[in-house]
Amino acid sequence: MAATNSKINRRQFLKASAAAAVSLAVVGSAAYYFKDKKSIKELGLLRPPGSINEEDFLFACIKCGLCVQICPIHAIKLADWDTGLAYGTPYIDGQAQACDFSCDAIQCAETCPTAAINFQLFKKAGDEAVAPLYKKYPDGRFPKEINPFKVQVTAMKSADKIGLAKVPNESQCLAYQGQGYTGVIGDGHSALLRPPGEQERIDIAKTEVKRDICDLCVIYCPLGEDAIVLDKLDGGKFLPKVLDGCVGCGVCQMVCPTTPAAIIVEPIDKK
Ligand code: SF4
Ligand code: SF4
Ligand code: SF4
Repeated sequence: MAATNSKINRRQFLKASAAAAVSLAVVGSAAYYFKDKKSIKELGLLRPPGSINEEDFLFACIKCGLCVQICPIHAIKLADWDTGLAYGTPYIDGQAQACDFSCDAIQCAETCPTAAINFQLFKKAGDEAVAPLYKKYPDGRFPKEINPFKVQVTAMKSADKIGLAKVPNESQCLAYQGQGYTGVIGDGHSALLRPPGEQERIDIAKTEVKRDICDLCVIYCPLGEDAIVLDKLDGGKFLPKVLDGCVGCGVCQMVCPTTPAAIIVEPIDKK
């Protein structure tokens, strides 16, 4: 009888020890993650457009992956385990596949079941932009040069900043070196892009361009000269200048032909 009890006790002891070890590991890693909680800027996580502030986002996002599935250009990925608390949450790797807004409807925001990505933000911006037009042309007969859909979509695209482009090392930029560029768009990797003003998407790895002075980041920016222009400097040099209209979509980084890209997009930590 005593032998049986000691067996049970040993088994119980081993079970209890294993449970304690697992609990300690869980508590330990949670403490580690909380202690070393990094901002999305430090983690390099560019959230999908419309994402709410990071602290709330981590609670609101249920990691369902619907935003990943719905994105027609597969711009959204789920963060890896080494991102701590952000593990499994959506982000955009602008270098690999930027959000070029070619879906127009901003489906990731529309589909998010918890409003971690908030469509209301875009709806409000779109409604506000077209309201004066409908007031002016109540019969809906707009002059040829006014396309309310375009006005609405542009306002929606500009409604949220997820990051900000910058040229960290200007000497790497071809334009700064006074150089042109001939070859495929970007650094040769395959990615989709709908160039501004066009209907169809192109594969950047299959599209050749020839520019006397490199300005790919400027001509392919979905928000155009509100977001980025090419500044002329002395000595035949040029440099992309990022303006207030930049929303951090990542297209400039994706299309830049240098390796690594001379222009990068840093995530913005919303408060
Ligand atoms: S759809 Fe919303 S809840 Fe689901 S993973 Fe994307 S952000 Fe998170
Ligand atoms: S400069 Fe233009 S392309 Fe680059 S991140 Fe800003 S909005 Fe996007
Ligand atoms: S695409 Fe790259 S190399 Fe070309 S101008 Fe822009 S930052 Fe410079």
